[in-house]
Formats: sequence, C-alpha cells, structure tokens
Amino acid sequence: MDFELPETHQQLRETVREFCEKEVRPHAIEWDKEERFPKEIIPKLASMGLLGIRIPEIYGGAEMDTLAYAISVEEVARVDGSLALTVASHNGLGTGHVLAFGNEAQKQKYLTKAVTGEWLAAWGLTEPGSGSDAAGMATTARRDGDHWVINGTKMFITQGSVGGFCVVLAKTSPEKKQKGITAFIVEHGTPGFRASKHLEKLGMRSSDTVELSFEDVRVSDEQRLGELDHGFIDTLKILDKGRVSIAALALGLGRGALELAVAYAKERKQFGKAIADFQAIQWMIADMKAELDAAALLTYRAASMADQGKPFSKEASMAKLYASEAATRACNKSLQIHGGYGYTREYQIERHLRDAKLCEIGEGTSEVQRMVISRHVLAG
Ligand SMILES: Cc1cc2nc3c(=O)[nH]c(=O)nc-3n(C[C@H](O)[C@H](O)[C@H](O)COP(=O)(O)OP(=O)(O)OC[C@H]3O[C@@H](n4cnc5c(N)ncnc54)[C@H](O)[C@@H]3O)c2cc1C
Repeated sequence: MDFELPETHQQLRETVREFCEKEVRPHAIEWDKEERFPKEIIPKLASMGLLGIRIPEIYGGAEMDTLAYAISVEEVARVDGSLALTVASHNGLGTGHVLAFGNEAQKQKYLTKAVTGEWLAAWGLTEPGSGSDAAGMATTARRDGDHWVINGTKMFITQGSVGGFCVVLAKTSPEKKQKGITAFIVEHGTPGFRASKHLEKLGMRSSDTVELSFEDVRVSDEQRLGELDHGFIDTLKILDKGRVSIAALALGLGRGALELAVAYAKERKQFGKAIADFQAIQWMIADMKAELDAAALLTYRAASMADQGKPFSKEASMAKLYASEAATRACNKSLQIHGGYGYTREYQIERHLRDAKLCEIGEGTSEVQRMVISRHVLAG
C-alpha cells in the first residue's frame, strides 16, 4: 500500500499552487468583496489546462485522470473557494456530462470551446421546488417534430449567466418518473432561455450562481445529450465524480485554513509569547491536521477507484461527507485562532469558513450523502 501521490501528481500540485499564489491569491479577497465573477482569470485557467482537465487531447484538453482533477480543485480551493467551484463545476458537471454521454459531434462542438474558456459550461438539475429529491423536477421537454420545447426553471446554477451553454435535465416521459428524464444542451442566446441576476450568497461570492428560466425554448434533437429518458441515470454517474471534486474543494479550503492558522499562531503574541506556545491552540491545530489528512485519504481513494474503473459511489459520498464537515470544523478553528482579526474581512479566514459551508450542501447535502452511504452498507 503506497500513500504517496505519484510523482506526476505531485508536480501538478506544485504547478497549480504556484499559479494560484501568483494569479489568484492577490485578488481573492477583492473578488469576494465585489461579489464579481473574475472573467479576466478564465484565459489563464485555460492556458493552465484547468478548463479541460479530463478532456482528451483530441479536443484540446489536458487528458488527466480523476486524481489529477481532484488535486487541481484542491489547490485552487486552498486559495479561493469560489474559483475552485468554477473549475469543479465546469469540469465535473457541464463538460463532464458532454464528455461521458455526448456524441462525437457534440464533443467536437462543445468540448473544444470549453477547454479554451470561450464557453464555460453550466449544469442545471436543481429547481426551486426540487433539490435533494432531484427527480421531482417540474421542467419538461415536449417533442415537436424533430425539435424539443423546454419549459421550466432551474435554481442555484453555477456559471448560469457567464457560461456559454447549459446542460439541462427535463422530464420527457413524466409518467416514468426518474426513468423519464432526458438531458439537453441549451446555448446562451437561444430564444426563451434567460438567466436571473447573480444570487447573493453567504459564501462562494465570486462564483456565478443564478436562476435560469426556460420559456418555450426550442432545441433540435441534435441537442439531446445521451439516450432518451436516460438523463437521470446518467446524472447519478456525473454526481459521483462531482462529489469527489467537492470533497477535494473542501479539503483545499480546510488545508488553506490550517496554513493560515499555523502562520498566525506563530506570529501573534499574547502574555509575552506566541499563541502557538499555548496547548489550547496546539490541540486545535492537531485536530485540524488529523481530520484533514483523513479527508485527503478518503478523497484520493475515491478518485483512484474512479480511475481504476471500480464502483466508487459509496466512497465518493464518504469523501464528500467527511471532507466537507472536516473543512467547516477546520475553518471554524482557524478563525478562532485568529481571534478578532479573523472575524474581519481584511483576513482570508472568514471567507474560507463561509465558502466551506457550501460543500456540506452542494451536489447533495450531508444528509443525502448519509442516505447514499447507509444504503450501500445495508445492502451489503
Ligand atoms: C452556491 C450553490 C451552487 C450550486 N450549484 C448548482 C449547480 O450548478 N447545478 C445544480 O443543479 N444545482 C446546484 N446547486 C444546488 C444544490 O445542489 C442544492 O442546493 C442541494 O442539492 C440541496 O437542495 P435544496 O437546496 O433544494 O435543499 P432541500 O433538498 O430542500 O433540503 C433542505 C434540507 O432538508 C434535508 N433533506 C432533504 N431531504 C431529506 C431526506 N430525505 N432525509 C433527511 N434530510 C433531508 C436536506 O439535507 C437539507 O438539510 C447549488 C447550490 C448552491 C447553494
């Protein structure tokens, strides 16, 4: 059993880390305060290969594995959770769905534009009335000759207004419930497809989150993604990999918070010595380190299982559940170590804490992960 990451992945970590320290850290607080999606960083992310991490080279992608994807997301999150959410959802959800279930023409058209950042990808599953019960969606797609007419609303969609296209899940055979859902690719500019204004959020503030509405949106059958009525089954597979990336995002936020805590504890003096000399602070740091290393092992295990073609649904849920809750605890402890300064928006740690909370909610809440894990365990 080897607990070391392969050399190639260690090098990737160093490269992404260097990029984030230079191009992202100096701006992360400002982007968050302005609640502004940083469009200017997109070409740089593309040139680093971070917009096509798993996309094959024939479409211009970096063609790396799931472990590399997880490490990339982790490293971006170490510095900026919002940008990591952009990288995770673009790679894992929107383009991930086209890569896994698209036909050759769709891959040529959408993946080649996704890797350059010309078209960021969004993915619309959640609706105002259906989140955890995703199959309870109300959006419909009705066949009209060789076209489909989509009507409905999608909620909390990442890259919903800044993306070039959105993969949308809609009911095509409502009587068949989750076996009657199909995915479609809808391009921005299609008549009847509109994005609301940016939703104001607790965290992930420079990530673009919007409500999308579809009013008699006509798309040709060529825009259907995957088999008819197979969209929900495909979605569960997309979410498995997505959960590995949210685990990695949480891990990065937590590890970033630990580094901030260590640096601050060594520098801040009270009662004539560095606060790092107090056992109360040391114990918080020990707990953070142990929990985050456990989160890393779960996350890398799930990613490696995906790369080996093994079933990894339970492991992805375990990684996502544990890493997200460990990250929130780590960020909270780090803020405590920062004292009053940590509570101000001049320091980075309050942003980490706000961002980490999303990881317990997005791509299936902690409660949903517990449902998935217990179902697997009880069926065994
Ligand atoms: C910033 C952000 C970005 C997002 N990006 C996207 C995106 O790009 N695409 C997309 O499709 N969605 C996206 N989402 C949506 C996200 O996946 C949902 O918010 C999440 O799945 C939870 O759904 P909900 O918000 O409707 O909560 P609900 O499902 O209403 O849950 C509310 C509470 O009830 C609990 N609960 C529900 N059912 C059960 C049960 N059976 N047993 C026990 N407890 C239960 C939940 O765990 C939760 O605590 C995003 C959300 C946010 C906040």
